[in-house]
Amino acid sequence: MQRIGVFCGSSPGNQPEYTQAARELGKILAERKIGLVYGGGRVGLMGELASAVLSAGGEVTGVITRYLYQRELAHPGITQLQVVETMHERKALMAELADGFIALPGGLGTIEEIFEVLTWSQLGLQRKPGGLLNVCGYYDALIRFLDHTVFAGFVAAEHRQMILVDTYPARLLDQFENYQPPEIDKVKLVIEETHRSRF
Ligand code: AMP
Repeated sequence: MQRIGVFCGSSPGNQPEYTQAARELGKILAERKIGLVYGGGRVGLMGELASAVLSAGGEVTGVITRYLYQRELAHPGITQLQVVETMHERKALMAELADGFIALPGGLGTIEEIFEVLTWSQLGLQRKPGGLLNVCGYYDALIRFLDHTVFAGFVAAEHRQMILVDTYPARLLDQFENYQPPEIDKVKLVIEETHRSRF
């Protein structure tokens, strides 16, 4: 893996562990010579993460929209900053540049970004690993809900399993190294389901 895309809060959250985890992930990425691709911001966990990679001698590529750039929300010290027009272009470019995707704790933006990537995996449109860094149980309720989506028959067990989860950045990255994408894609499953219900 050459570069990992990280989605995380533009706020720091209210527990010091969130910031510590962002810094720890940044340091480990730099140590493993894995470049960071992220939203380019200087605020919240985003800023902490990028600064940690840079202080440990790593490489950081930010992909930011012109709107956020003009509001001076971009990190001033990163290796490379790409300015794009729309949020859609931003996600597409981040997805192209990165070899895997991690969500640190974050809000609506973070959740939306990681789930979009996971839906692409589910459809077989991309085969890169994606997962949650579950710092201080931040994602516990979401993980329970993901199990419920399988129980309720909306998500296939194989697609639930492709969502990697760990509490430690180093272990999550180890899981990324060993990741095998699901064999079955959602389109095939839906076609099979429709076929079964008809005949
Ligand atoms: P949220 O989790 O709602 O704080 O949103 C964080 C995500 O949305 C990040 O991964 C960014 O891609 C994007 N984002 C939100 N606010 C900013 C900002 N001020 N600067 C750069 N990106 C941002």
